[in-house]
Amino acid sequence: MFSMEGQQLGPVEKLTLFAEHMALEPDEEGGAPPAGPLPCGAPPAPRRGKDDHLPITNVTMSNGRKMPVLKTLLTSACERNCYYCPFRAGRNFQRATFRPEELANTFVDMHRAGLVEGMFLSSGIIKGGVSTQDRLLDAADILRNRLGYRGYLHLKLMPGAERDQVERAMQLASRVSTNLEAPTSERLARLAPTKQLVEELLQPLRWAEEIRRTQLPHKSWNGRWPSTVTQFVVGAAGESDLELLTATSYLYNRLHLRRAYFSGFHPIADTPLDGLPPTDPWREHRLYQASFLLRDYGFDLEELPFTGDGNLPLHHDPKLAWAQQTLISRPVELNRADREQLLRVPGIGPISADAILRARRQRTLRDLSDLRRLGVATKNLAPFVLLNGRRPLQQLPLFA
Ligand code: SF4
Repeated sequence: MFSMEGQQLGPVEKLTLFAEHMALEPDEEGGAPPAGPLPCGAPPAPRRGKDDHLPITNVTMSNGRKMPVLKTLLTSACERNCYYCPFRAGRNFQRATFRPEELANTFVDMHRAGLVEGMFLSSGIIKGGVSTQDRLLDAADILRNRLGYRGYLHLKLMPGAERDQVERAMQLASRVSTNLEAPTSERLARLAPTKQLVEELLQPLRWAEEIRRTQLPHKSWNGRWPSTVTQFVVGAAGESDLELLTATSYLYNRLHLRRAYFSGFHPIADTPLDGLPPTDPWREHRLYQASFLLRDYGFDLEELPFTGDGNLPLHHDPKLAWAQQTLISRPVELNRADREQLLRVPGIGPISADAILRARRQRTLRDLSDLRRLGVATKNLAPFVLLNGRRPLQQLPLFA
């Protein structure tokens, strides 16, 4: 038997128990993440309303649409003892376990009732990662193949999952993930001493990339391979931003992850790290900004404005700090710059860079109002650009 914890409880009671002990987790696709620790579990930001006792959270998808997602576990029992996690072995609280079929049926009932549109499914570990992964795959298989569910399913890859399990998860899920938690083995030992960074956590992500690269997704539920993401705990292991972003850069460039999430440490009572202070939310925010510069803006790690201790300044946007060091003396002519150069300018993102490229085929851009009409954020941009050979005139604030 996988786990007998809480078998006498009904599905809603089990979900309610999970929600009581889950922590906050970043939004799936975008937006500022709430602070919180991150177990393997599915930490929700509970919705307000009549169902706010359930682990349902609104998730922003890549197209900007918000979607209510059930973030749940197969079991809140766990044999591991990660120091930051509310589900760690030996912590005293009531646990609960779903059978795979029970969870699949519960979710489909909630989906049919219009309560949720997708599911994030994870689990505490019982009898090893391989056995736990089998249970997760059973639930996903019942959902897709017996109950005909065609919607969003984010499936966790358990520490130590085997290659064929990773492949099966990729055939069933819309997204798969493994939380690396720390950027190096030494840092991980301070957070989760029974986990192996490379062998247990990184390897499933490597296999996912290898499978995507070498195999056609013809057995996948929707004919496509799912995206992969990961998550780091920030601020509890003494790691620097440079260490986190070095790992992130590898994950984006080599393993083609869709996104790395940064979850600021938040102490949980009755865990070994409950005496540590919570991480400043600005640190998470700067890490996200810097990681987007690496992923979407063509920046290299060496260009990011790390301070001597390997961290990003908390009080400066990293792109603005780079521009102040680099572009003040070499402003970018917006009528001639290529896309890569445009993306280096504070206030210009991928969408507004494309809008500038389109607009200037028709006319010369002459002042900031031309840019504002294209959706460019001009608040910080003026010192770093030329418009038709001239520095743009900035309107000074009335009460400067
Ligand atoms: S393996 Fe660690 S992080 Fe995952 S549920 Fe168990 S104690 Fe928490």
